[in-house]
Amino acid sequence: MNITKIGWIGLGNMGVPMVKNLVKAGFEVTVYNRTTEKAEALKQEIGVGIADSPADLVKDNDFIFTMLADDAALTDVYTGTNGILTASSGEKFLAIDMSTVSPEATQKVAGLCAMKGVGYLDAPVSGSVKPAEDAQLIIMVGGAEANFEKAQPVLSKLGKLSLHLGDNGAGNNAKLAINLFLAITIQGLSESLLFAQQQGIAAEQFLEIVNNGAIGSGITKLKSNNILQDNYKAALALKHLAKDLRLAGQQGLHLPAGKAVAESYQQAENEGLGSDDMIAILKHLGKF
Ligand code: NAP
Repeated sequence: MNITKIGWIGLGNMGVPMVKNLVKAGFEVTVYNRTTEKAEALKQEIGVGIADSPADLVKDNDFIFTMLADDAALTDVYTGTNGILTASSGEKFLAIDMSTVSPEATQKVAGLCAMKGVGYLDAPVSGSVKPAEDAQLIIMVGGAEANFEKAQPVLSKLGKLSLHLGDNGAGNNAKLAINLFLAITIQGLSESLLFAQQQGIAAEQFLEIVNNGAIGSGITKLKSNNILQDNYKAALALKHLAKDLRLAGQQGLHLPAGKAVAESYQQAENEGLGSDDMIAILKHLGKF
């Protein structure tokens, strides 16, 4: 039986654990990362192949995955110097982008791929580093149904649930809606905590109340220890959540809490908190 070959571009907080799961599942994985040291480190650790450029991944792989920061990174990797689309045409890999990007960027890149006969799925994920490590992500997919079916054997090694939601861009739209909920939740938790502390309630006790009641959720439980320990090491960097809210704005988000929260995360990013975890919104709100 032929081993499925996967090219993977993007070795950030999410890309690294996702690649580890693909290697563990028995796929042959070759990686490319703009900062080559990260690819070298992963090669040392788990023995992946390394490509010199995105274009170099085109020839030999059945799938090319991208897990990148934003629209600009996706466009660079596809259309920049030695980008995927600069490789010779006629390749028959399936392209799967798991980054959180705009539906417009997806539709543009998917259109360029279609001109070369290459299928494309937008497949952004809900879940952060821990679910990525545990292959428990939720994957929201846009693109042709047949390509979704083709991707299933690989997606099933990265997540616990993959949903096909419509044409290209549908996955991105679902992801922006989920992250709107996430941003409002984290802002709500932070404001409630600051208010409780202002009234003399200890943070530890307040979070215990939250997490033992119906208002507690996976995310409040996941972030409570980090909040109590002032640990802002990024799982989801605040700059990415600010970016997602900007993208939601571009998609026509006009609702009051959403608009206010978008402004709040933007201010926090402007204050230099972008590389901290999203819970650093607390540091921003603490100034009020
Ligand atoms: P990250 O740690 O910031 O990594 C970003 C990756 O994109 C790195 O590999 C980076 O390369 C690459 N990159 C950035 N700009 C580039 C460019 N112009 N050309 C080529 N490569 C470029 O991000 P992450 O946390 O892994 O997240 C990746 C995506 O998933 C984002 O869209 C994020 O919103 C989304 N997401 C994240 C989480 C989470 O909890 N972290 C959860 C769900 C979804 P370098 O190494 O060279 O910088």
